Amino acid sequence: MSLSATSVEKGREAGSKLAPGPILLLGAPGVGKGTQAKELVKLWGIPQISTGDLLRGNVARDTQLGRVAKEIMGRGELVPDSLVNEMVAARLLEPDTANGYILDGFPRTLAQASWLDGRLAAAAQGLPVVAVSIQVNYNQLLRRITGRRNCPVCQRIYNIYGNPPQKDGVCDVDGTPLVQRADDTEKVFEERMRAYEAKTAPVVEHYRGLGRFAEVDGDRPIATIAAGIVDAVERLRQ
Ligand code: AMP
Repeated sequence: MSLSATSVEKGREAGSKLAPGPILLLGAPGVGKGTQAKELVKLWGIPQISTGDLLRGNVARDTQLGRVAKEIMGRGELVPDSLVNEMVAARLLEPDTANGYILDGFPRTLAQASWLDGRLAAAAQGLPVVAVSIQVNYNQLLRRITGRRNCPVCQRIYNIYGNPPQKDGVCDVDGTPLVQRADDTEKVFEERMRAYEAKTAPVVEHYRGLGRFAEVDGDRPIATIAAGIVDAVERLRQ
């Protein structure tokens, strides 16, 4: 059995006894936060809270928030902190977050981080947050972003370069035509990277400084990365 499979099994066993608490997945657009969050959901049974997905849901439902967010997201810029914090606050009130949750794509600014830190500090017996930063180099990110295709029905994520569907343009699971996110173009990717460097890189440094922080190499097979995250979270929870 490979090392990665062993560690993932360990994670599965750990899933039954460990209350994972709040986990932050940090990293630039395309590092695989969403993919890894889905792996961890399977292991630990705690929800993935992706602010990108929540915002896209609002856009699809044409809510007031969705109407504000749509254009900002289309430009690759960040949605204002107050709107995102409010959306996350509402999501964290749901009962499935009681044993923990995986925040994917949040916090993305120091203001969001300090809002979250304050909220967690105020929680009666909550576990402290563990932050994991996933690292991938720029050219690899560009390939991942511009090659990414999503199934709008089962949400499975493909990549036309690294992980293509069996039949071009069609989901393996349900045969639905795959779609490309409007912000997964090279031009918007560059803006998203600028926003990351300016606003989100300092958030990584903030959590590094607080301890309970790990970095994992995201340029490896999905299961190996997941195993690295499980190991890091177990170590940081001790
Ligand atoms: P993602 O799916 O995480 O790549 O997010 C897609 C887009 O949603 C980002 O480029 C931002 O425009 C917006 N977004 C997602 N999360 C946040 C956040 N925490 N703060 C501000 N904007 C966000």
